[in-house]
Amino acid sequence: MQTQTLRCAVIGAGMAGILAAIKLDEAGLGDFTVYEKADRVGGTWRENTYPGLSCDVPSHLYSYSFALTPDWSRRFAPGPEIEAYFERIAEEYGVTKRVRFGDEVVSCAFSDGKWHLTTASGHTDTVDVVIAATGVLHHPRYPDLAGLDAFEGACFHSARWDHSVALDGARVGIVGTGSTAVQIVSAIVDRVAALSLFQRTAQWIAPQDNRAYSAEERAELRDHPDQLAETHQTLSDMFDLFANAVVDAESAEIKLIEQACLDNLENNVHDPELRERLRPTYRAACKRLIVSPDFYDAIQKPNAELVTDAIECVEPKGVRTKDGRLHELDVLVLATGFKADAFMRPMQIIGRDGVTLQQAWTPRPEAYLSVSMPDFPNFFMLNGPNGPVGNFSLIEVAEIQFRYILQLVDQILDGNCREIAATRGALTEFERAREEAATHTVWVTGCLSWYLDDRGLPAVWPWSFLRFRDVMKAPDLGAYDLR
Ligand SMILES: Cc1cc2nc3c(=O)[nH]c(=O)nc-3n(C[C@H](O)[C@H](O)[C@H](O)COP(=O)(O)OP(=O)(O)OC[C@H]3O[C@@H](n4cnc5c(N)ncnc54)[C@H](O)[C@@H]3O)c2cc1C
Repeated sequence: MQTQTLRCAVIGAGMAGILAAIKLDEAGLGDFTVYEKADRVGGTWRENTYPGLSCDVPSHLYSYSFALTPDWSRRFAPGPEIEAYFERIAEEYGVTKRVRFGDEVVSCAFSDGKWHLTTASGHTDTVDVVIAATGVLHHPRYPDLAGLDAFEGACFHSARWDHSVALDGARVGIVGTGSTAVQIVSAIVDRVAALSLFQRTAQWIAPQDNRAYSAEERAELRDHPDQLAETHQTLSDMFDLFANAVVDAESAEIKLIEQACLDNLENNVHDPELRERLRPTYRAACKRLIVSPDFYDAIQKPNAELVTDAIECVEPKGVRTKDGRLHELDVLVLATGFKADAFMRPMQIIGRDGVTLQQAWTPRPEAYLSVSMPDFPNFFMLNGPNGPVGNFSLIEVAEIQFRYILQLVDQILDGNCREIAATRGALTEFERAREEAATHTVWVTGCLSWYLDDRGLPAVWPWSFLRFRDVMKAPDLGAYDLR
């Protein structure tokens, strides 16, 4: 029997924050504010506006399960369409009006059983429950390149794209070979005079069929919501298989993925010398698997060059590589990813008895099942540390996590406790098992990637997605400290 109501704060209005707001309302917990430091919702999809940005899981899967849409234009929708989807859903579900925009939460301190939030503008709020939805791939990582500041052309990170810079007819350099770089190369190669892709590590590229949906197909899905739901479910099942493959480096599925990537390289890169330079020396899916329908075509265009000599430094006129050559450039794009371990930073978070997040996360971020931390009662994370990542929908992950968190909050609502947080023992045991399982995954088969922590261990969920669904169905209250 619910005896009380609770005030909540959601930090972040990206995909996960919008979800939290919708679901809190649905659960009858309507007394909340969403804090967003930017001026619009959308998170990742608001910040990344680079040419070629698109989803790399099918859009019918990268959608809220409760707000499927028949309107995706392609299998893997372009970024602006995804951003518009989040804006529309936030509006339709009444989230936008609940967001305090342009106000960054700078601190959360726990005392007297409540969380006290302070924002950059000096606004304060006292809440019972905090949902942190501050994003994983949020803080750009800049490369440590000597001379970068001296570059006379335009230089920006891929997540801070400068649309005032003309690309047509320009000589453009791109540092990095992740999904973002690959998408940019394909999108701009036909516009620029010359494109230099500075590759430190070759990447496996899985083929991708990114066909457009016809008006008839979209109408069909609009008229038959059951088919839309079925499409979502089928894709979800399919991506479970992928998730299972990467956590077992010897699985048959991973071998199929490896073969598809190998065939893609062998069949589509014609110059044997270029093919060898594009051939990774580690196993497919060891790094986040890249999918692209046309990267190999793009990099073989006459105006494109794959530069594999290491970068010596950046000079006013361009990039000098270790072989002594100066690659003259007008624009330098840093597609060098994000600080994936910077969860919730730079917020000051002070838990029970003055324990700071900084202390709790030294040497590295840890959370029980990615959602809860000892000493931080009633403070829950969406897409927190060591959660499932990989080539599947993080929306599905956040939905599963939120349903779980709501069950923890129910303990308070039901009067069983006023404070709930994972026990130290549960976290220690979870981390021990997680680290052990991580040694069997494809992520430790000989590559460097942003999945790896300072010890070289994958900072991710190392078991199957099925196990994630199972474990997250209902909390094991024995793992929680209820006061
Ligand atoms: C280029 C790119 C492509 C991607 N493609 C895919 C894909 O195909 N499939 C997939 O599943 N995932 C993909 N991702 C991952 C993507 O980040 C997630 O799918 C999802 O968008 C994350 O949502 P989020 O709400 O957790 O975080 P974010 O989208 O990062 O949102 C966090 C929000 O919190 C706000 N915020 C942070 N700190 C504070 C604070 N202290 N106070 C107030 N506001 C704050 C931020 O401004 C931001 O709006 C991609 C990521 C990138 C960068």
